[in-house]
Amino acid sequence: MGKFDQYKISLKGLSSGLQDYSFVLDSKFFADIDGEELQRGDIKVTVAVKKITGAFEMKFQMAGEVKVPCDRCLDDVDIPVSYDGKLYVKFGKSYSEENDDVIIIPEEDDSINIAWFLYEFAVLSLPMKRMHPPGKCNKAVSAKLKRHSPPNKDNDESDEIELLDDLGFGDEDTKTGDSRWDKLRDIDIE
Ligand SMILES: [Zn+2]
Repeated sequence: MGKFDQYKISLKGLSSGLQDYSFVLDSKFFADIDGEELQRGDIKVTVAVKKITGAFEMKFQMAGEVKVPCDRCLDDVDIPVSYDGKLYVKFGKSYSEENDDVIIIPEEDDSINIAWFLYEFAVLSLPMKRMHPPGKCNKAVSAKLKRHSPPNKDNDESDEIELLDDLGFGDEDTKTGDSRWDKLRDIDIE
């Protein structure tokens, strides 16, 4: 038994032509799948599998929450997520993804493991901004971040150099140098 055996959906055995599955993506699931973007969560999934002409339709409904670092204070924040989508599975020569929602699996396979798809759907359901509600951030951390950001100290030095150039100091050496070398060149020619 592999870690993800329970996420196998049998297709050839789909006798009635319609079958519902349910799964829970918990923190163990996210730890096992070891993806970059999501490590913890609790998402309920239902998958309705239906045999249609030339393919199997899998209809996914997912709802729950995930725990991710807050964009603002970096403390954990629970973000509600939901996802609704469909995948079509067809039999073919070898495994391939025809496009975003059509998967080809080899004829000899009678099932498809959807663990990675479920993980990808969970990632897709993440909002762009992942933050605590206003005022709920970890105060100690956000205060520290505020102290460290402005003013932009790294640029102070280059600003000073630019200012010297503007006043004409930066170029003086090279100018005089140039004219001196010009004279020497003249002498050499003579
Ligand atoms: Zn926060």
